[in-house]
Amino acid sequence: MQKPMDFRDFVEISPTARITRDTHGWRAKCLQRLVRLEMPVPKTVALSFQAVRAIAAGQPVEAAAILACFGPAPLVSVRPSAQETEWGGPSTVLNIGMNAQRHAELATTHGQEAATTLYLRFVQAYAIHVARLDPDPFMVGTVDEAALDAVLAAYEAEMEEPFPQDPLRQLAEVLRSMARAWEGTTARLLRQAKGAPAEAGLGLVVQGMALGIGRGVSGAGVIQFIDPVTGQPQVTGRYLGQSQGRDALADPDAALYLTRDPRGPSLEEVAPEIFADLIRFGQASRTRLREEMQIEFTVEAGQLFVIDAVKVARSSRAGVRIAVALAEDGIIAPEEAVLRVEPRALSELLHPQVDARAPRDRIARGIAASPGAAQGKLVFSSAAAQASAARGEPCILVRRETAPEDVRGMHAAAGVLTERGGITSHAAVIARGLGLPCVVGASGILVNPRDRVLRTPDGRRFGEGDVITIDGTRGEALAGAAEMLKPALDQAFRTLLGWADAVRDIGVRANADTPADAATARGFDAEGIGLCRTEHMFFEEGRLTVMREMIFADTREDRAAALDRLLPMQRDDFVRLFEIMAGLPVCIRLFDPPLHEFLPHDRDGMLELAEALDKPLSEVIRRVEALRETNPMLGMRGVRLGVTIPEIYEMQARAIFEAAIEVGRRGAAVVPEIMIPLVSAKREVELVKTRVDAVAAAVRTHQGAAFDYRLGVMVETPRAALRAGEIAQHCHFLSFGTNDLTQMTYGLSRDDAGRFMNAYVQLGVFPEDPFHILDAEGVGELLLIGAERGRAAVPNLLLSLCGEHGGNPESIAFCRQAGFDYVSCSPFRVPVARLAAAHLAL
Ligand code: PEP
Ligand code: MG
Repeated sequence: MQKPMDFRDFVEISPTARITRDTHGWRAKCLQRLVRLEMPVPKTVALSFQAVRAIAAGQPVEAAAILACFGPAPLVSVRPSAQETEWGGPSTVLNIGMNAQRHAELATTHGQEAATTLYLRFVQAYAIHVARLDPDPFMVGTVDEAALDAVLAAYEAEMEEPFPQDPLRQLAEVLRSMARAWEGTTARLLRQAKGAPAEAGLGLVVQGMALGIGRGVSGAGVIQFIDPVTGQPQVTGRYLGQSQGRDALADPDAALYLTRDPRGPSLEEVAPEIFADLIRFGQASRTRLREEMQIEFTVEAGQLFVIDAVKVARSSRAGVRIAVALAEDGIIAPEEAVLRVEPRALSELLHPQVDARAPRDRIARGIAASPGAAQGKLVFSSAAAQASAARGEPCILVRRETAPEDVRGMHAAAGVLTERGGITSHAAVIARGLGLPCVVGASGILVNPRDRVLRTPDGRRFGEGDVITIDGTRGEALAGAAEMLKPALDQAFRTLLGWADAVRDIGVRANADTPADAATARGFDAEGIGLCRTEHMFFEEGRLTVMREMIFADTREDRAAALDRLLPMQRDDFVRLFEIMAGLPVCIRLFDPPLHEFLPHDRDGMLELAEALDKPLSEVIRRVEALRETNPMLGMRGVRLGVTIPEIYEMQARAIFEAAIEVGRRGAAVVPEIMIPLVSAKREVELVKTRVDAVAAAVRTHQGAAFDYRLGVMVETPRAALRAGEIAQHCHFLSFGTNDLTQMTYGLSRDDAGRFMNAYVQLGVFPEDPFHILDAEGVGELLLIGAERGRAAVPNLLLSLCGEHGGNPESIAFCRQAGFDYVSCSPFRVPVARLAAAHLAL
């Protein structure tokens, strides 16, 4: 015989009851805290994970013992209580205990309509969530005796038995069905996607009902004390008279305003003392629970009950402001504020916005569901969004509304627009989670996914591939590519990152090639430039031709003449970089790519070049052909060019030194860092070093100025990592270029890996794309070997990582562990890296 459920597996929530998040779930723990704050929480019993697991496994439910806690003939609700809020749980069931007898009694005490509403709702919820019947027959539009009779009859017809009248059986069935729902495959997959472990438990809370339906001031609502988008203090929420649970949210038009509002009566006017209590509870939960909470409340005949409270769902921007405000008010420590903000969430704050001053061609207006702006080509399905992303084309996913199967498409899209839905709709919630600009409920538009057409209220028609802009901050869709503004970073953001900087113990620099990049990097408080890819400077207007002349030069003199013309341009580039970085370190990488990248690829381009150089077309074609390589990324590039055509590096070194002197004369001394790419042998470094030293000496003599510089090597071939001991002897620093190092460690072309990477990841050959997430096992081992051998030879050797991995929290953790001095990443990832580094240090 099965053993009945252990009585100790459920506990009445009191200030001293033994309830933890790990045994009874977040909701039970939160309710206990509200009880401790002396809020009017109706009597509540919590079932532990263990108890719920036993129920799911078929053990009998001690419904009588549980119901006995609530006195005679109670009405109760059951809600899920997983360990983490995000892990979800089965739907809440209210009004358990309603039956014909209670219906009759309540009709005399609360009125016929109230009694019927309560019974009707219970039958509906029970039929759909517990008996799992098709919802349609139970969705009656009216609330009267006839409707009640209809749903009772529908239940009996489907189940071949009358609606259960015994409250004990009702409660037992509700608990059993919720316990089993948690074990279902879909629920399991959903929560695992949110990070829940396979064995995550579910607690349940059984609570005495406060009836928001009945005589006097009765109703229910939610209230919160900050704006969920901006995080600014503001009372928001909804209240609906004669309602229960979260009805007020489902029917916003019918809701009463919480605070005084010219559009209609508010709770503040109808019941000022209740409103004042709610404000007080909000303050108490902020200071004592150390969090901004949304409080769910019920008013029964003028008496206020607090039913539940959850952390206010918030945008990333609001998350930062809330954490900073709590710390500034002394409620939490600055370090805790730092830990409360997820590094990757910062990228949402860094989103561009539509420039409010520029012309706007608005085609739709909806709800601003997720802030930021994005533009791209229209697509009407998830598959099309994924295809577009695979082609590297930003796209805007347009749907009537989204469903879970659209999540992959949303991941792939730059922005989302839906015809239907509200601020808590699927599209809105997912987009906020992904930091994706999103407009929902653009009710004037008509989306026809079959014909792939979007019609706007003013009769315009947009098809697949047409470009639009989503303004998720204002809730608008605009035709074409509207003008965009760089993200505005507010004071809270700066304060938080200031606190992060105070605790982190690894440096963060930026990869910046142009003065514009450098300015962005400075704006994000990068501690210097970790990688300036100088070749990008040669693609600029007016330079490409000189560059091509240099490549095509037949004699030393011709080459020197072309380089002489490039020199002042490079010097200006470096002057601007040094000025912007104002004394912070700037690491300049000498020329890296194969020369043919600068040459035309088609006949028209070659003809143009022949004219510009005043050479025969046949000669141009011959020279271009001669420079072509089978594996250019493994060919004549990087230091190999520096060794065989040393004049290029000499020109660059001179430009760097002259710029350093020029800027140094006007302000603090500049100590440039010069980095040699693609090294694989010690001798390469020696050859380049000798030449660069000679240039330095010549510039010093010529200009009569003293300056210092530091030479370093980019470790991006496996051999450089293995031979780091001898290579480092000539170096001040080593910087690991994990893009090339990944390419060469795997023998996997950076440019062609996309062809099979998806299949490889899906089949589990690689756990992740190693160009995105650092391969800690293989490439990581080379990093460790290089770092160890380099430091063994030169103890104060500066170590860093400057590949695309530099901004990933996982790579930062790896580098920190390996004792690196800094990581360098694209300017927009600098804030994420600063925060991630602080999390590691705390
Ligand atoms: C690298 O290889 O990691 C690197 C930073 O250089 P690039 O991406 O320019 O080859
Ligand atoms: Mg490289």
